[in-house]
Amino acid sequence: MSQEQTSPLHDHPHADHPIALEFPATIAVIGGGPIGLEATLYGRFLGYEVTLFEQGEVADNVRQWQHCPMWTPFQLLHSRLGRMAITTQNPQHVFPELHHEQTGEEWLRHYLLPLAETDLVAKSLRSRHRVLSVSRCHYSKHQTVPLQSRWQDGFVVVWQDATGAEHRDTFDFVLDTSGTFHQQLPWGAGGSPALGESQLLTDRGQDPVLRKRLHFVAPNFAANRGDWEDARVLVIGDSPQAAQTVIQWKSINSDRGQLTWAIPQSLTQTGLYPIIANDPLPARMRLFETANALILRHQTPSIAELVSHREGNSASLSKIQVVANTNLSTIQWQAEPKCFQVGLLQWHDVAWDSVPEDYEEPDDVETTLAFDHVVIALGHRVDEGLTRELIVPRCPQSEALQSLLGPLLAHPGDRLDFQFLEPRWTMTPEGRYFVLGAKSFGRLPNYFYRLGLQQVRDAFRWIVGRATLDLEQTLRF
Ligand SMILES: Cc1cc2nc3c(=O)[nH]c(=O)nc-3n(C[C@H](O)[C@H](O)[C@H](O)COP(=O)(O)OP(=O)(O)OC[C@H]3O[C@@H](n4cnc5c(N)ncnc54)[C@H](O)[C@@H]3O)c2cc1C
Repeated sequence: MSQEQTSPLHDHPHADHPIALEFPATIAVIGGGPIGLEATLYGRFLGYEVTLFEQGEVADNVRQWQHCPMWTPFQLLHSRLGRMAITTQNPQHVFPELHHEQTGEEWLRHYLLPLAETDLVAKSLRSRHRVLSVSRCHYSKHQTVPLQSRWQDGFVVVWQDATGAEHRDTFDFVLDTSGTFHQQLPWGAGGSPALGESQLLTDRGQDPVLRKRLHFVAPNFAANRGDWEDARVLVIGDSPQAAQTVIQWKSINSDRGQLTWAIPQSLTQTGLYPIIANDPLPARMRLFETANALILRHQTPSIAELVSHREGNSASLSKIQVVANTNLSTIQWQAEPKCFQVGLLQWHDVAWDSVPEDYEEPDDVETTLAFDHVVIALGHRVDEGLTRELIVPRCPQSEALQSLLGPLLAHPGDRLDFQFLEPRWTMTPEGRYFVLGAKSFGRLPNYFYRLGLQQVRDAFRWIVGRATLDLEQTLRF
């Protein structure tokens, strides 16, 4: 028998499995975002003692992008259990139509906040409780002990309250639903910080003007049109958020504003974003098609041409300029006049396997330009510090959970149909520690909420020790 077949990690959940526990076991859920709320409800419904730690307010990350449109309709943005809990609490509550395409604000108002207010969830919720660390109660990561010993050890969660005071509590299980949204990728080339970046992040806390001008999600252009009339805007990134920012900026149709979109990778003949054949999500297809068309129309060959645009030497001054293979090299906030001085570095992407022997690689080109607003839309990464003392294997490239990689690679492309996932793919070597929701995908872009719901179900199969447990299917409501 191979090691894989004999390893308890690959068993199916059953009552005698060494991690399953009878009531009243205690569970810490870290992060009161959408999946943390769902996991808390599931655990409370089954009778576990659940503590839900949220560093800010409920669904803090969704609040930050709430004005943005979403891709998936309401049908894929709620659980039947959540719907039942809300209806039990308030029989008059009106849910959106299943096919309704909504904004983050509508998701919050119609589903997430009512879910947080249900008795089962509200009693567990600890807002403004920031978790600083999760570890085993007794064993450090480097100590050589049998896996079974680690599995029988509890967890210590160290957390900070709103006054800054620190506390510790112990739990039998930890469900890590802390997401990645608050961990922006660094802004410079190759994933290093741009010079001046960390200073800017520190100063942002004290300077309200700087705070208004430096953005990490598509700004709410429509709500503050006046701010954008004459503004010179820089968008840096290749994430869907970058596309959304540029399209929303264009829709306010500013006469005098200028937008530069720096894309840190090469373009293809069709633009940047891959179009999925027969995309089941029309909102995503519209976003990517519009963005690709816009990129091809406004592509500016080099940053030298961009400078020429700025100096008014170009006959066809476009309101949007798109520059590929471009990163931030430096960034500084200038107090008077209030604007950013940004160093842009453009490099040449070379297919080294097909260049002639005498090929001479052109030098990178760098220039400094002034911008009134900067939007960082590069994507997010995992906060590894939180669980540094736990054994959590991740893909070194994508930072997705190692256990998820096999199924994700075997089912590339769209992942709206998650029937291929199995409970063993939620497991980590820590046994009673699970990573659920956006964090389990690391830097991979196409995580969907519906997958998180399936992960919640699968984690509780291990916790309860019953391979067929599925409240969504067995409860009748
Ligand atoms: C503009 C936009 C549109 C999107 N549209 C869709 C869509 O249409 N469909 C879809 O399925 N997904 C969509 N997503 C992805 C969406 O973010 C996820 O589906 C969902 O929000 C992820 O939920 P989560 O609970 O895993 O993580 P998050 O929403 O990131 O929640 C994590 C929570 O943990 C808290 N937290 C973090 N660290 C700590 C700590 N140390 N201590 C305590 N609390 C902590 C945070 O404050 C936060 O509340 C979209 C994302 C964006 C940005």
